Amino acid sequence: MIFDTHAHYTSRRFDSHRDNVLNALPAQGVVGVVECGIDLDTSRAALALSRTRPWIFAAAGIHPESLIDEDASTVRTFGGDWRAEMVQIEPLYEDPRVVAVGECGLDHHWPVPTDAQLALFEAELQTARTHELPILIHDREAHAETYALLKKYRPKGILHAFSGSAEDALWIARQGMFLGFGGALTFKNARRAVEAVRALSLENIVLETDCPYMAPEPLRGRECHSGMIQYTAAKVAEIKSVPVEEVLRVTEQNARALFGGQGI
Ligand SMILES: [Zn+2]
Repeated sequence: MIFDTHAHYTSRRFDSHRDNVLNALPAQGVVGVVECGIDLDTSRAALALSRTRPWIFAAAGIHPESLIDEDASTVRTFGGDWRAEMVQIEPLYEDPRVVAVGECGLDHHWPVPTDAQLALFEAELQTARTHELPILIHDREAHAETYALLKKYRPKGILHAFSGSAEDALWIARQGMFLGFGGALTFKNARRAVEAVRALSLENIVLETDCPYMAPEPLRGRECHSGMIQYTAAKVAEIKSVPVEEVLRVTEQNARALFGGQGI
């Protein structure tokens, strides 16, 4: 059964057909989805969406890109004052359907000011600790800084869309974190991700989409949804020479164990 640990169904890209996409998922084997907020507005929307179906759960947080995204409430409503936005997000963590802090992390691909994103990420690590919640981490071209903060805070959670080396993957697993793999694992140039999956035990891996983006091969470039995780799971099964059913069973168990304290 498919547990998608990282989705963005509140994206405007789904506005014309969101219900159709979501209603089709259970028949494709989808039994769990964590819908990730990237600012106050989408965190509230994620919680609202999680109330529409028992198998959808929410994560609330501020994504580093939201610091410079004109469309994000971080800029639009708060003028970049992420501390004020965090105050508004804070009550959401009291809701049992909010099972994680995130999506948050560090991004050096886009020109996000370094000091601001580091301060924001540390505040969210502290929030995860305070509320004893897992954290969903985005690390794009910021491995060293991310790993230093993992060492400092020792959070539970997922390093999503993992793009580091096999050695890094093993170290992160030893810290008690899960590594999240999505459609990019199936791409032709995914040599590092394949090596990471090969090195890791299935017990340290969870599956994800990051939908509407990152559809796996053979559907690369299309609008992605959680049902497509079957292709990512098949790739993991091929790398590890185990049946795809085992990959889906163990990764679902991993997700439930991680979020389980929150009643999943
Ligand atoms: Zn995401």
